[in-house]
This record gives sequence, structure tokens and C-alpha cells, in this order.
Amino acid sequence: MLLEDVRTVLVVVAHCDDAEWMFGGTVARLVGQGAVVDYVVTTDGSSGGVDLDVSDAELAATRAHEQREAARVLGVRDVTFLGFHNDELTVTVALKRAIVREIRRTRPDLVLTLTPYRAMDAPMGWNHADHIATGEATLQAVYPEALMPRIHPGLLDEGLEPHEADEVWVPALADADRYVDVSAVVETKMDAVWCHRSQNGEANGDRGWMFAHHIAPPMVEAGDRIGVRHAERFRRVRVRG
Ligand SMILES: [Zn+2]
Repeated sequence: MLLEDVRTVLVVVAHCDDAEWMFGGTVARLVGQGAVVDYVVTTDGSSGGVDLDVSDAELAATRAHEQREAARVLGVRDVTFLGFHNDELTVTVALKRAIVREIRRTRPDLVLTLTPYRAMDAPMGWNHADHIATGEATLQAVYPEALMPRIHPGLLDEGLEPHEADEVWVPALADADRYVDVSAVVETKMDAVWCHRSQNGEANGDRGWMFAHHIAPPMVEAGDRIGVRHAERFRRVRVRG
């Protein structure tokens, strides 16, 4: 499907800030064309950061607050936190059921999630184990679990009928086959990234440095491939042939 045809989107990521860093420009464009976008964050963020004086609960609450702010900047409708402990995520029935619940509740055409395999040409952060688990669990949730009524039968009791999405897009590098021109929305993306104050310490308060060193380069590299200033790129997975 073309970006322009997307009406309803579910974004499933592992951590607060993944969506903004990985594809915040695409989310901004989707919202801009009138699509309804919802977020699911699978983990609670409680094992992030290096300040051991901050409690797990306090850290999780801070990150959730920042994620809601970033979502508001991008025009996302709602954020659901599944609350799995981060840095320990694996593909389990419980994780998949929780994602199926959100797919059946929000009924997306398009699901945006994280890359379910290790991209050896990417920096290590791209391949965080929570990212790979979230991507794989989401693909399994989309097909076949969300669309088969006898899988997770308890969800029918919650009134959640089967739903079939059209496509899943995951961030990609060399194997990308879908590029989104985000040149017009890079400032909005940066505004959303900047909401994650507890995770932006490396920038020392310097937003311009953060943009120049971390946010812009991958978008410029992707943009070069299609002749625009800034782009985000994906591998497209079709549910049906
Ligand atoms: Zn992450």
C-alpha cells in the first residue's frame, strides 16, 4: 500500500523514544494526511538510565510521561504501555496476546514495528534484543493470531473480533524497499525526540548537536537514495500475496 492510502496505523515499539527516533517523520506525515495513529510500547523502561538513586517505578513513570508528550507533539491519538520489564523481553504467548488485543482494538491498515532480525550493518542500538523480540512478536500477532478467532479465545470474550491488517513496515537499511520523504516534517520529528529528556543526556541540552549528530544523518543517507533531503526507510511485509 502507498503511504497516501493509509487511514489507520498501529505503532508497536519496545521502548519510549523508539518510535520517534526510528520513524517519527513517517508518523508525522501519516497524522498530517488524516490517518489515526496509536502507539503501543511493550516495555516499561525501568532498567534504563544509569542513576541508581532513581527508583524503577519513578524512571518508568518519567519515561511514560515523556512518551505521552512526544506522541502529543506528533498528533498520535493514544499510547498503551504493556509494562513488560525491559532488557528481558522475549517472544511469549503473553506478549503476543497483549499485542493482538491492541490490533483487534485499534483495527489498523498498517502496522509499524521494529526490525525483527539483526541488521549487521546497523549500530548496536538498532539491534537491541527488546527491539527484535517486539518486531517478531508483532509479526506473529498480525499473522495469524489477530485474524484467527480460535487463537487467544479470551479476547472474543472481551468483545475483540478478529482483524486483518494489510501490511507491516519495519525499519530497514540495505534491504529497504519503501522510502518516505520526511523533509517537510523533520522539525516536528526533532520536537518529539526532544521530549525524551531522560534519554537525551548525551546531548547536554544541545538540541542542534543532537539533530546534527544522531537524528539527521540516517535521514540524509536515506534521502540521498531517492533524491530528497530527508527520508525514512522501511522493509514492507504484506499480509497477503
Ligand atoms: Zn529502544
